[in-house]
Amino acid sequence: MFRRRSSPKVEEAAPPPAGRERCAAGGCRRLDGTQCSYVDKRSRRCPTAWCPNHVADVAGFPYCRRHASTMSAIEGGEVVAGLPDLDNRAPSLVGWISRELDEPIRDVLTRVAPPSGARLVTDPVRLIITPGGSTRRWAKTWKIVDSTSVLNRVSIEVDEVDDCHVSARVDTELIGRGLPPWIGNRQAGRQVDPQVDAAERAEFAAAMARSIELVVTGEEVAFGH
Ligand SMILES: [Zn+2]
Ligand SMILES: [Zn+2]
Repeated sequence: MFRRRSSPKVEEAAPPPAGRERCAAGGCRRLDGTQCSYVDKRSRRCPTAWCPNHVADVAGFPYCRRHASTMSAIEGGEVVAGLPDLDNRAPSLVGWISRELDEPIRDVLTRVAPPSGARLVTDPVRLIITPGGSTRRWAKTWKIVDSTSVLNRVSIEVDEVDDCHVSARVDTELIGRGLPPWIGNRQAGRQVDPQVDAAERAEFAAAMARSIELVVTGEEVAFGH
């Protein structure tokens, strides 16, 4: 269950009245757009507005597509330490990779779990702040727990200051770090057609899943660098 955000700080950002803005979608001429509700940790509000055809709803609030992806990743949960900067993709990248890896991670953890007395639990994408607050990492975690402790833990993480790279951790050990191909393509200004993009995404996810599997089962390490 997620907690509904108590308030998207609408009053602070003083938005124009809802539903009176020009829609930001390419080619859309509607003038009944509602402003995206996203407010980042510096209290900046996303300036885009979207008509009913193009707005994305998460937990009852309107968002642009980018921020809907962030809010869906954290399952609408409240982030006391504040949401990432407007243009930061860390939580949504963790969300995407986690959806791709959910099944293989569940499979391998279930395989290594003791036959009885243990169960799999998952946490939604959450902010991990290192002591002192010097780093903000977004992570999704899968755990095998018994009645007293965590037996195995896998997490997928993206650091806010480097929101292009995805890391995988098994227990506390960092086992790999990679640049997703579509981000690499964009950085290099390469256009790829949708089939190639889909194949590259699947290959990247499969390589990460394989690395996690090898470490969890005690075989070997390594994906990306
Ligand atoms: Zn529109
Ligand atoms: Zn937005």
